[in-house]
Amino acid sequence: MSFQILLASARGMCAGVYRAINTVESALKKYGKERVYVLHEVVHNAHVVADLRALGAHFVDDLSEVPEGSVLIFSAHGVSCEVENKARELKFTIIDATCPVVTGIHRKMNLASKKGQEVVVIGHPGHQEVIGTIGQYQGDKSKVHVIVTEDDVKSLDIDGDNAFFATQTTLSVDETRRTVQALKARYPNIQGPRQDDTCNATQERQNAVRDLANQCDIVIIAGSKNSSNSNRLREVAISQNTKAYLIDDSSQFDKNWLIGVNKVGLTAGASAPGYVIDDIINYLKEQGATEVITVGPQAHDRVFPLPKEI
Ligand code: SF4
Repeated sequence: MSFQILLASARGMCAGVYRAINTVESALKKYGKERVYVLHEVVHNAHVVADLRALGAHFVDDLSEVPEGSVLIFSAHGVSCEVENKARELKFTIIDATCPVVTGIHRKMNLASKKGQEVVVIGHPGHQEVIGTIGQYQGDKSKVHVIVTEDDVKSLDIDGDNAFFATQTTLSVDETRRTVQALKARYPNIQGPRQDDTCNATQERQNAVRDLANQCDIVIIAGSKNSSNSNRLREVAISQNTKAYLIDDSSQFDKNWLIGVNKVGLTAGASAPGYVIDDIINYLKEQGATEVITVGPQAHDRVFPLPKEI
């Protein structure tokens, strides 16, 4: 069996993920490992969390698990005002690793609540980012509506002349465009971003995986099952009628996927570390990969400064 690997140039960790990981690493150096707690997985990747845990970081899902006097880091997905206020009351040293793109959406949600606007959030209910975004609306929560698809728009009954919309940053760009179009068609005066809030990193990685899927027999996405952006990459590849698999690393690879395959596409979600790609490439070379060809344009990732407390 011999085949080529086509590796997407625009892949892997984005600026917000680098910032969040660097924040935890720097906090461990500055404050010592006994004191550093992270609320929720700092980014949705099993390897990243395991690596930071090995360095000494404590991951918790509730403030009640954080001891007095601790340094508390908010994950890249952001938190609600309620959590923020409670953490301040408990007098933790707070370091906010929320991605600045998400913080920008939080500011707009805050403003919408001050204006008393109804808000439509396009995103997956239960995802940490969506929970944080909704929780930035301070006021009558019945004015906040979470939807995902264009069909969901039909179920809305809002005052479209005093309404605002926001989206999760890591959604399917195509599906979100359709949902926003349907929303604007039903409520032409609704305010919000010109297009949506999917970030540049999300858009570029989805464009890259679409191109990859059109050139390959299968596509492998390095990322964890609870990673929103990684799941969307898999869906985009499948939408091009190409089989696609989301794996944390080579240990989850099934050799049967390679039967009859000439070209394997390879990319990584925005939270997956680069060494996982190296691990998968090495594994594929052992299985008969003859060359690795990097394809598509580079990502135009920004660099976000670390939080001022670091
Ligand atoms: S995917 Fe986008 S919003 Fe999410 S952390 Fe990366 S840059 Fe920020």
